[in-house]
Amino acid sequence: FDMFVLAFVERLFRPTFRKDDFVLGKKLGEGSFGVVYRVTLANKPSSKEGDLVLKKATEYGAVEIWMNERVRRACANSCADFVYGFLERSTKKTPEYWLIWQFEGDATLADLLQSRDFPYNVETLIIGEVQDLPKRLERENRIIQTIIRQLLFALDGLHSTGIVHRDIKPQNIIFSEGSRTFKIIDLGAATDLRVGINYIPKEFLLDPRYAAPEQYIMSTQTPSAPSAPVATALSPVLWQLNLPDRFDIYSTGLIFLQMAFPGLRTDNSLIQFNRQLKRCDYDLVAWRKTVEPRCGSELRRGFELLDLDGGIGWELLTSMVRYKARQRLSAKAALAHPYFDKEGLLALSFMQ
Ligand code: ADP
Ligand code: MG
Repeated sequence: FDMFVLAFVERLFRPTFRKDDFVLGKKLGEGSFGVVYRVTLANKPSSKEGDLVLKKATEYGAVEIWMNERVRRACANSCADFVYGFLERSTKKTPEYWLIWQFEGDATLADLLQSRDFPYNVETLIIGEVQDLPKRLERENRIIQTIIRQLLFALDGLHSTGIVHRDIKPQNIIFSEGSRTFKIIDLGAATDLRVGINYIPKEFLLDPRYAAPEQYIMSTQTPSAPSAPVATALSPVLWQLNLPDRFDIYSTGLIFLQMAFPGLRTDNSLIQFNRQLKRCDYDLVAWRKTVEPRCGSELRRGFELLDLDGGIGWELLTSMVRYKARQRLSAKAALAHPYFDKEGLLALSFMQ
C-alpha cells in the first residue's frame, strides 16, 4: 500500500510531458519493438543538445514503462535514469508508447568491446585519464574485474527488486559518463515475478546469443498466466523453486568470457562457441579441455588471464556459466566471490 501512495505522490510532483515537448535528434537504434532517438526539450533551448533519450515503443512499451518506474524507486542506480513514460494517442491504430531517459553516454559495452583498445578504453573512461603503464595481463584483469563487479552490482539491485532482465548483453549495457559506471538499459523483455507483470515468458524476445539453455524463465510445470493476485501470492515460492534470476547470471558469464577472449567478441564466434559448449553438455571445463590443446596464442592468453591468482577468475566464470540454473551463483553470491577480493579500478578513481 505504502509503495502505491509513494508512487502516486512522486508522480504528482514530477513534471509530465507530451509529444510536442520534444525535438527529435539522431537515431540511436532500431529494434523490432521500437526506435530510439536522442532528443531535447523544445521549451528549453538552453539545455544541452540531445541530453535525453526517447524510445518510441510498440505494445511492449507499457511493460517497459512499468519496469522503469519500479526500478527508479527501488534500485535507481542499476539502470539508466528514467524520466517519464506515456501513451501517445496519435491517429495510428497501434498504440505507441514514449519512454524518456537521461542520456547516459555515447558508448555501450558492445561498442567498447569492439575496439582494439579494449579493456584499456574502459580504464580510461572509469579513471578519467590515460595511464602510461605497460599493457599487462594483470592490468587487463583488474579492468575486467571492475566491469563485472559493476554489472553484478546492477543485477543484484534488479534481482533484489524481483526483476529478471532476460536480455543482458553488451548492447544493453551503457557506460554512464556521469557516474563513471556501467548501467543496464532496455527493460523491454524484463519480468517482475513479485507482482506478476509480464509473467508469461515471451521466449521469442530472448536473444539466442546470450540466452541460458533453459530458455524459458519458469519451468514448464509453472502454470501459465495466473491472474495478478495469484501471481503475487505464488511468486516468492516460484522464485525459490526456479531461480529465474540465474538466467541473467548465465548471460553475464558469457560477457565475462567475451571480455577475457578477444576471439569470442564477434557474433559469429559467439554463436560458434555456443554450439561447441552445447556439444560439451554446457560444461565449460570440458570445453576448455577440447580447445586448449590446439588453441592459438590469443585463446591461450584468455586462459592465462582467467588463471591469474590461482585461477580465481576461471573459478568465478565456471560458477556462472552452468547448465543447471541452481548451480549458478546468484548476483549477490558472485559479488562475494574471492575474485573480487583484489582492489578494482574504482578505488583508484576515488583517490584522485
Ligand atoms: P532496443 O529495443 O532498440 O534494443 P535499447 O533500449 O536497447 O532499445 O536502446 C537502443 C540503443 O540506444 C542502445 O543500444 C544505446 O546505444 C542507446 N541508448 C538507449 N538508452 C540510452 C541512454 N539512457 N543513454 C544513452 N544511450 C542510450
Ligand atoms: Mg537493446
